[in-house]
Amino acid sequence: MATLRYDKTGRLLFTKEMKKEYTLLMPMMLPIHFGFFEEIFKLHGYRAVILDTTGQDIIDEGLRSVHNDFCYPALLTTGQLLHALKSGEYDINKTALVMSQTGGGCRASNYIHIIRKALKNQNLEHVPVISFNLVGIEKNPGFKMTPKIVAQLTYAVVYGDLLMWLSNQTRPYEKNIGDTDKLLAHWMNAIKKEIRRSKSFLPKAANKKFIQIAKDFQAIDRTEEERIKVGVVGEIYIKYAALGNNNLEEFLHNEGVEVVMPPLLDFALYSLNNVIVDSRIYHKGYLRAAIVKWLFQFLYSLQDKVNTAITHHSDFRPMQSFERIKELVKGYVDTGNKMGEGWLLTAEMLELIDAGIYNIICTQPFGCLPNHIVGKGMIRRIKQNHPEANIVAIDFDPGATKINQENRIKLMLATARRNMQSHSAPTFALGGGK
Ligand code: SF4
Repeated sequence: MATLRYDKTGRLLFTKEMKKEYTLLMPMMLPIHFGFFEEIFKLHGYRAVILDTTGQDIIDEGLRSVHNDFCYPALLTTGQLLHALKSGEYDINKTALVMSQTGGGCRASNYIHIIRKALKNQNLEHVPVISFNLVGIEKNPGFKMTPKIVAQLTYAVVYGDLLMWLSNQTRPYEKNIGDTDKLLAHWMNAIKKEIRRSKSFLPKAANKKFIQIAKDFQAIDRTEEERIKVGVVGEIYIKYAALGNNNLEEFLHNEGVEVVMPPLLDFALYSLNNVIVDSRIYHKGYLRAAIVKWLFQFLYSLQDKVNTAITHHSDFRPMQSFERIKELVKGYVDTGNKMGEGWLLTAEMLELIDAGIYNIICTQPFGCLPNHIVGKGMIRRIKQNHPEANIVAIDFDPGATKINQENRIKLMLATARRNMQSHSAPTFALGGGK
């Protein structure tokens, strides 16, 4: 076992020595994106494992380890990490946990402390917990976010978004069942190989790949049948993670609808935009804001390239541009509202409506005040301005039954089917918004 070292505050550090022999466990959120992240971490010498475990045992572990005032994503991610640690699959003397820290004012910056507390209560305090953040909150000698890793993660997000976006638009329409998943697996492998081989993504090569991906998905044989489109919005973890939302995407797919998941890059742009807005509102942090502005422009240009590939080489609906999303939210919530998903959550509902997708599920985790305000709290106002919107807020908590959640969604889908049959909703504006 490596020597345990602590910083001045008594925090257990993840050392260089540990890097050589420790396994790093991380909670799963988005399978495509996180599959690429795992590969990037491996490339840089980390034995990373993204946990895709599910089941009641994880919820029970979370309930035992986390105070019941805490929000549901905190309970699930802590439960999943501790469950893995106690599963016997990993050497508890050579395993570390990784948790993200956003650096914002919400609890997402504090999950890490809950995990440490839970470890202490279970005599596992010798297990290091590494903060995964881009703002330098906690540092560890054995875990460094180098510019190269950040660049690679950025491209991984963009590739992940593109593959998620296009596979969701082909899967419900494919004539040969399984074509979409086969192509998705092909591209996931190709990009993972690229990560292993080139050690970095080059903008020119990536651009070519964006185009090829769009062309390949376009080539899938699809029916012209019209399907109900359902957008999923909400708190980031509950919206994306199958463990958090009881496999919502799979349920919707089995109901025969086209699922529209917002791109992860929007959340990255939103987080960067918050720094710029803060400097404007509070008249401070100008240098940081200038650097962030440059990064923002870089990400924004990547989103633009992906959208150009989609619009020029396929007939798929492109992603909404971030600037358009910001425009849409005016008059609803100020962009200074940035706790949790902040204004982005309201904007996600508006961008779906703007693209002609009126059926929306707003996922709400238990104990999440910010997202109840900008999510559930905004639905009435949105419906007043867009009577065609068919929005349902679904609560996710340890006691909510899957059947109850699905029944409420089925009611929303019944309305969606009626609307489609009677053509009471306006025709879908494919390609709108950009
Ligand atoms: S946004 Fe909600 S769910 Fe996410 S950390 Fe904050 S309180 Fe928890």
